[in-house]
Amino acid sequence: MHIYADNAATTKMSSTSINAMLPYLNNIYGNPSSLHSVGQKANEALFSARSKIAELINCNPNEIIFTSGGSEADNQAIISAAKLGAAKGKKHIISTAFEHHAVLHTLNKLESEGYEITLLDVHENGLITPNQVNDAIREDTCLVTVMYANNEIGTIQPIAEIGEICRQKGVLFHTDAVQAAGHLPIDVKKQNIDMLSLSAHKFNGPKGVGLLYAKRGIKLSNLIEGGAQERGKRGGTENIPAIMGMAAALEESCSHMEETAAYLTKLRDKLISGLSKIPHSALNGDEISRLPNNVNFCFEGIEGESLLLLLDDKGIYASSGSACTSGSLDPSHVLLSIGRPHEIAHGSLRLSLSKENTEEEVDYIIESVSEVVSYLRSISPVWRNLTEGKQKFIIK
Ligand SMILES: *Cc1c(COP(=O)(O)O)cnc(C)c1O
Repeated sequence: MHIYADNAATTKMSSTSINAMLPYLNNIYGNPSSLHSVGQKANEALFSARSKIAELINCNPNEIIFTSGGSEADNQAIISAAKLGAAKGKKHIISTAFEHHAVLHTLNKLESEGYEITLLDVHENGLITPNQVNDAIREDTCLVTVMYANNEIGTIQPIAEIGEICRQKGVLFHTDAVQAAGHLPIDVKKQNIDMLSLSAHKFNGPKGVGLLYAKRGIKLSNLIEGGAQERGKRGGTENIPAIMGMAAALEESCSHMEETAAYLTKLRDKLISGLSKIPHSALNGDEISRLPNNVNFCFEGIEGESLLLLLDDKGIYASSGSACTSGSLDPSHVLLSIGRPHEIAHGSLRLSLSKENTEEEVDYIIESVSEVVSYLRSISPVWRNLTEGKQKFIIK
């Protein structure tokens, strides 16, 4: 049995995406900046990918900069807005405590350079409110950056409302939409988004490619100096095969969005109700305002790492949080931000599904997780203390 349930970390490429790349790995290998016809064919492809993606997120093709992925797009968006703000004497930035590290670490760096950062508290259901943003905006605020959907607990933020507040107050609004793309509708106009980051490998496209949408008129700062590619905002020969793969993957995900979401929601809710039966367990994040494919639980009295290894033995590939945190012993900053204490945050499990998963697989996951949690508790000194009443249960 091989069950891949770690789609928030990365996804399997779709055959549509692979096939869209192949001609550009084979015959159409020209440099889009070259004037001869091999180059011009590549340039036409680049234009077609840009136009297709622009249509899917409702922007103009020249408002898109192709990047090496979500992290680069997040960095470029935030650094650009910070520099634009500084030029007007505005050096205050608002974000949330549970952003991706590509956002949080960029903000840390800006803080060390004299910017003031406000990280909004996340409610225990994994959501922030537009009011919190409204109350935090000051005269010197230059940017609000709030993710569309969280990569660990899947909660979906009210970004259109947040964008509206920012627009009224004349503050730039960026959203990291890396987890949302392909799963949730994106319309940068309707959702009042000034800047948005995407990454292809989260929606069945290739790794190492993403994009930054920046509304016309926003002057971007370069992270990479070089040639005139990407309107001079991102030097380097464009990765045409990857860009073609990304455009095809996004088009495919968007065209099946509703039916995929309906299918995944059914699997997700079955998984949530099955895992809820495990005693002293709790779902992390709101039950309703969450990605159709995300399940994240805490189990009291166990270590997430041991749980993952034993699930791996059973052919189930999951995560204890983000790929970046699962390599370290620190508990997830996302779970801490929603008020889970350290010892509970350590016993977490994230299962992120795809349309390739089946109901039978979900049954097998529920059975396996229940078994493994019972086993780990049977050998856990913490669990013994809890059951003998020497220590109080935190999860009911
Ligand atoms: C994966 C992810 C990123 C980083 O994207 P890369 O393309 O891997 O650099 C950023 N933000 C979120 C929410 C993510 O899930």
